[in-house]
Amino acid sequence: MEGIAIRLQDLRKSFGGTTAVAGVDLEIRDGEFFSMLGPSGSGKTTVLRLVAGFETPDGGRIELAGQEVTGLAPFERDVHTVFQDYALFPHMTVEQNVAYALKIRKVPKARRLARAREALAEVRLEGYGGRRPAQLSGGQRQRVALARALVGRPRVLLLDEPLGALDLKLREQMQTELKAIQREVGITFVFVTHDQEEALTMSDRIAVFEQGRIAQVGTPAEIYERPATPFVASFVGTSNLLDGEVAHRVAGAPGTYNIRPEKIRVLKESAEADEPEHATVTGTVADAVYLGDTTRFLVDLDGGGRLTAVQQNLETSAEDVAAYRGSRVRLQWHRRHAVRLPS
Ligand code: ATP
Repeated sequence: MEGIAIRLQDLRKSFGGTTAVAGVDLEIRDGEFFSMLGPSGSGKTTVLRLVAGFETPDGGRIELAGQEVTGLAPFERDVHTVFQDYALFPHMTVEQNVAYALKIRKVPKARRLARAREALAEVRLEGYGGRRPAQLSGGQRQRVALARALVGRPRVLLLDEPLGALDLKLREQMQTELKAIQREVGITFVFVTHDQEEALTMSDRIAVFEQGRIAQVGTPAEIYERPATPFVASFVGTSNLLDGEVAHRVAGAPGTYNIRPEKIRVLKESAEADEPEHATVTGTVADAVYLGDTTRFLVDLDGGGRLTAVQQNLETSAEDVAAYRGSRVRLQWHRRHAVRLPS
């Protein structure tokens, strides 16, 4: 049976007049890659710090593996935190950095060096043990920090924007690798990020934070395909909010609906519009942006409002895209892609 690694009940924390965490309930399962996603200031880091024990909650309860730890010191919790700045010791070698936590715990030398080497292999840094942090790239330093966290085999690894300092290419590469490493070691990872693409790429499940609360918890597909609120729809991906009559082209469909940009086809205004399962609207292209693999259209609808549509550039060239600006178009989508937001 799958166990619960972390359980939070009505967790609360304020700093002076600022409410950082306003009542969070959450269960994270053993072995999950779980992301906390939200805009700056939404309370993700504070929740992570509460779980680590660096902050004391004003209210609520924290359990790790079924044991209450709410009042325990950080070292009494079976968790390890990886920070964005890595916090490596510059005067120690990579191997010494990784073995350090075991030294503190008085693990015999031969054993801790063997464990350090194992951990370095897990993060694909064999052969780098003798270097100092200054002799490594940003991505390699990131891996040393990870190896240092893995060496003590914590039950839970807390990662606070660990890829934030890396450039985009390296960041994307590390996303894939971090996920692979997590799968291999099987430790629960709790990952804080404000980058929705990163969360969608890496996570088994995501909690979307909004102003100190969780707006939705779900798999990447659930969050993207079935956003629970307009906030989630717009924070994760691009939202196109419409009322039911326009979205479905049927009577008796009240409520607010969301359609993802890639589900909308951009056609010439004169295109056939009588496909029964599709809804269609006409409008004028306010902007068309060539993005290499795709083109992003902003279309002002005749009935008012604006939709974003993204199309693959199968045959479309940059010149074609420029010609679209100001032109009349028909937008079409299958009705099942217009997803009602719970009110
Ligand atoms: P970011 O992505 O920018 O790190 P976040 O979602 O992690 O944001 P938190 O760092 O948890 O958000 O902050 C939540 C709120 O609590 C913010 O308004 C922040 O200013 C406030 N806050 C956090 N820590 C402190 C502190 N030590 N003292 C005062 N206010 C704080």
